[in-house]
Amino acid sequence: MSRLSKKRLETPVAVTRSSLPPLEEYVDMLKPLWESAWLTNMGAYHEEFKEQLKRYMGVSNLELFVNGHMALELALQALELQGEVITTPFTFASTTHAIVRNGLEPVFCDIRSSDYTLDAGLLEKRITEKTCAIVPVHVYGNFCDVDQIGEIARRHGLMVIYDAAHAFGETLDGKGAGEFGDVSMFSFHATKVFHSIEGGAVAFRNDKLAGRLYELKNFGITGYERVEYVGANGKMNEFQAAMGLCNLRHVDQEIEKRQKLALRYRERLSGVPGIRLCAENPRVRSNYAYMPVVFDGYKKSRDQIFEQLAQYNIHARKYFYPCVNHYDCYRERFDERETPVAAQVSRQVLTLPLYADLEPDVVDLICDLVLE
Ligand SMILES: *Cc1c(COP(=O)(O)O)cnc(C)c1O
Repeated sequence: MSRLSKKRLETPVAVTRSSLPPLEEYVDMLKPLWESAWLTNMGAYHEEFKEQLKRYMGVSNLELFVNGHMALELALQALELQGEVITTPFTFASTTHAIVRNGLEPVFCDIRSSDYTLDAGLLEKRITEKTCAIVPVHVYGNFCDVDQIGEIARRHGLMVIYDAAHAFGETLDGKGAGEFGDVSMFSFHATKVFHSIEGGAVAFRNDKLAGRLYELKNFGITGYERVEYVGANGKMNEFQAAMGLCNLRHVDQEIEKRQKLALRYRERLSGVPGIRLCAENPRVRSNYAYMPVVFDGYKKSRDQIFEQLAQYNIHARKYFYPCVNHYDCYRERFDERETPVAAQVSRQVLTLPLYADLEPDVVDLICDLVLE
């Protein structure tokens, strides 16, 4: 039971809250920017942030971007793909939009009900002679079945581009999340475990991709008087890099705090009939990015719990609902019934509030309300 009496909270609790470094730390980072007046276009902080991230993430190749979406969109462009791309409908809009905006055709493959990542067992049924790549998502920070996906991709000569927006700082068998597949995209958006206000990065295997990614995020400019590609503006600026550098100093403590809260939720909610939590994978060092709970045959529906929490000024999120293949912009082209597990989970899942400075008492109150 929570020590908080069961009444509406005065201050709203959102599903997440951006972490911030002590203000003085960020202000100290600004002085050199006023001196140099170099505010963007791969300045000193950009370069320092890139090096520190490579070390932290345990990857050898990394390029920074203005946000995760541009990172993914330009990575797909850099790979010069054509045809069909197999992906999951149980993700954020960005994953599919990046495929479609590259003139590629998304092909949706269903997810597993244990961790909501792409069901690798269904993958081969989706492969045609037009398939060029697979874009799986480490959704909620749950690792995809990287072994089986990698094996299938090798056998069919397909590229694998992971949407690792949720997987910052995670490892599988001690290997960094950015070390799987050909490319992995990370998001440093303000709502993610680690952020640079907005921001993103691409980690990649092939060294040769580095030059192309750099050019594409800078309008496709390849020389003083030369533009070889139809690029975009995907550059991370110095204020973002400075925030990233500050947050990187604190991210391990933030993850530790998240872990304590996630365990508190788990203690109360696991083993309750009709409530399903993601299975914990002993091979994974988790970042505790989200607290997704699936209500499947529970005495109350997901929507009832969502409403009930809202009455107490606690704002959980139906994340991800609807599935991408049920969006207004895609509904004419795709049929959600082709991915029944994703369709069902999206109607049953609720992501509960989880961020480093969330009060443990609020976690207890949320559990009381869910269980009553
Ligand atoms: C946040 C997110 C993105 C996009 O990242 P931005 O940095 O917000 O552009 C892509 N995919 C998933 C799964 C995300 O959660």
